[in-house]
Amino acid sequence: MRRPTVKCPACGTLLPNNEYRAGEPWICPSCSRQYRFAQRYDLLLWIIALVLSFAICFLFGLRGWKLAGGALVLLAPVDLTCIYLIGVLIQPPLEPFPVEGAGASGTREKKPKSDPKDRTGGLDLRL
Ligand SMILES: [Zn+2]
Repeated sequence: MRRPTVKCPACGTLLPNNEYRAGEPWICPSCSRQYRFAQRYDLLLWIIALVLSFAICFLFGLRGWKLAGGALVLLAPVDLTCIYLIGVLIQPPLEPFPVEGAGASGTREKKPKSDPKDRTGGLDLRL
């Protein structure tokens, strides 16, 4: 299952969701900024998926260790389904990918190669 369609916050180009890899920067093909899904958003979805997994197993009559085991097995597919379904409704928030070796602040960003479009994109997600 694919990640939902997401636009680059800086330049509005559609990010190729077949190039998304968890834990790696998602690079905009147009302005070469690097993004990842906001950590809080992923965590929230994961918690929703965890609760749903337990609820589903509970409804199927699993109890005790079987309930915990079943929920763990279901967690990954349920998490992906939540990411997909919620991503269809709202655009998942992106945040700039932290550049390795940028220090504790993590605010430094690799500047994309001189791109005229870079100036026009008004929205900057830097936190
Ligand atoms: Zn872009």
